[in-house]
Amino acid sequence: KGTLYVVATPIGNLDDLSPRAARTLASVDVVAAEDTRHSGRLLSHLGIQKRMVALHDHNEKDRAAGILTELQAGRDVALISDAGTPLISDPGYVLVREARAAGHRVSPIPGPCALVAALSVAGLPTDRFLYVGFLPAKRSGRRASLEVLSSEVATLVFYESPHRIMESVRDIADVLGSDREIVLGREITKTFETFYSGSVADVLAELERDPHGNRGEFVVMVRGAAAQAGSEEAATMDVDRMLRVLLAELP
Ligand code: SAM
Repeated sequence: KGTLYVVATPIGNLDDLSPRAARTLASVDVVAAEDTRHSGRLLSHLGIQKRMVALHDHNEKDRAAGILTELQAGRDVALISDAGTPLISDPGYVLVREARAAGHRVSPIPGPCALVAALSVAGLPTDRFLYVGFLPAKRSGRRASLEVLSSEVATLVFYESPHRIMESVRDIADVLGSDREIVLGREITKTFETFYSGSVADVLAELERDPHGNRGEFVVMVRGAAAQAGSEEAATMDVDRMLRVLLAELP
């Protein structure tokens, strides 16, 4: 039986492709990619020529069956997406699920992922975060989703496209409050990598001033509700109270 390797590829800087990812892509029999033209360029940059199959959201069910046949025949397959880690707001869920159900080995080749890269430098709590993917494209749906998340205590993480970033940050200001702490990561690992941080109101003003403010790809991170300033004091008080209770139990 073949192995399905789920391989992370760069989110901008090609040097972020790991040596193991390169070795895996060179050794498998087939590469399943979201966009074969886009990934074909990555492979030729690595000097690799491979049989490729396209696997995107619209055809994943059909294509998964074909890939399962390859695995059944003992051929190894690498799944990659256009950027970052497959299955993270990218295709692959159906294939991974079916490959596992059929008893194939499914092995990760970890690497870049925009949300993890963004969280690692944002300076927001990372002990708990909620990855929400893309907010709905329509304003009413977006606001409704934000309402549902308004009392969430975990750090919220969204992906956003350049043409909707302003609208989304405006809706975050309206629904979650303009004084919440927000961090935006733009074009991470690329030439124009920028991080904007502060209150939602400040970051919105900064985006509006910046001529490149609405260009590039964004990760949006918002501090969770209970972690807002003020309740931090309450959390410390809880720890104090807990310590007193625990100390009272000591002999
Ligand atoms: N699978 C990818 C990953 O592991 O991060 C995400 C794919 S999703 C279709 C694309 C979105 O990821 C973009 O719209 C943007 O929100 C985010 N993204 C990808 N690369 C990025 C980068 N270099 N800087 C900031 N955001 C990025």
